[in-house]
Amino acid sequence: MRVFNFSAGPSMLPEAVLQEIAAEMTDYNGTGMSVTEMSHRSKPFQAIIDETEADLRQLMNVPDDYYVLFVQGGASTQFEAVPLNLTKKGKADYIVTGNFANKAFEEAAKYTDAYAAASSKEANYTYIPRTFDFREGTDYVHITTNNTIFGTRYTFLPETDAPLVADMSSNILSEKTDVSRFGVIYAGAQKNLAPAGVTVVIAKKELVDGGTMDICPTMLKWKTQAKNGSLYNTPPCFSIYAMGKVLKWLKQLGGAEVMQQINERKAKKLYDFIDQSSFYTNRVAVADRSLMNVPFVTASEELDAKFIKEAAACGLVSLKGHRLVGGMRASIYN
Ligand code: PMP
Repeated sequence: MRVFNFSAGPSMLPEAVLQEIAAEMTDYNGTGMSVTEMSHRSKPFQAIIDETEADLRQLMNVPDDYYVLFVQGGASTQFEAVPLNLTKKGKADYIVTGNFANKAFEEAAKYTDAYAAASSKEANYTYIPRTFDFREGTDYVHITTNNTIFGTRYTFLPETDAPLVADMSSNILSEKTDVSRFGVIYAGAQKNLAPAGVTVVIAKKELVDGGTMDICPTMLKWKTQAKNGSLYNTPPCFSIYAMGKVLKWLKQLGGAEVMQQINERKAKKLYDFIDQSSFYTNRVAVADRSLMNVPFVTASEELDAKFIKEAAACGLVSLKGHRLVGGMRASIYN
């Protein structure tokens, strides 16, 4: 029996995708082998990665002057790759809206003069700041478009002349995105795209081709992957293959615009219920509520624990909130 899985990530995948993968597990497309057993230099795998990139480009309407890369190490490795690839003048501004945004900021501080241009830490990250103390002459501005632990999301983009770099790990393809507004987008795949293992980087070519910090490791250089079609070394083949299936599923559904409508309707149902209830509370500023992660609490930790236990008995699992917030969290990805 499949459960209702509210895991924050890795998280549930479309059942149709899982079934298709299961059916192909021992013999992919007449090759007599599983994709997990296949050379990444083989024709069938080349077709898989090419098609996955093409579908991602189509679904996100990625302009031609952007690279689409499939890398490893999770979004966390991109916390380092971002400053290592983009530092030229030696200054970067960060908007600190949560735990991961802060981790990105702290990593960057090892390589560049990183500055928190705004933070909502004083309110336990329950809102997205609207005013920013951006500096002149920064290499980039970094934001986290959806804050997985705290349940907030940007509904606007900060105005800046510097390239905007976005961690979209927990809301990529959950809504329409104008890629041309960003210099770089990166996302770990394990929420909306695929099993864990692959990280997507979408980066403006001029930013990638412009050179990196001298100390940038070869494997973290976006240019290394761009020049080699994400096949410089062995890529996370299975995750890329599974992502291809998820993207086909999303295309069939109608793409990011339709997905956004579904996500808005789905999240509204939950928020409306919480808001009319005198039993449950969501502490996030209403205008900044995430469509993907919905934290909520009851009046006491004892009742929270009881809720989580009884929900699990009904087949509603992984509802325990993150330890930094407590209570419950329903992750309701695509
Ligand atoms: N950024 C955000 C917004 C996340 O939610 C996460 C993981 N939950 C990360 C970064 C870290 O991603 P990874 O585990 O792929 O390194």
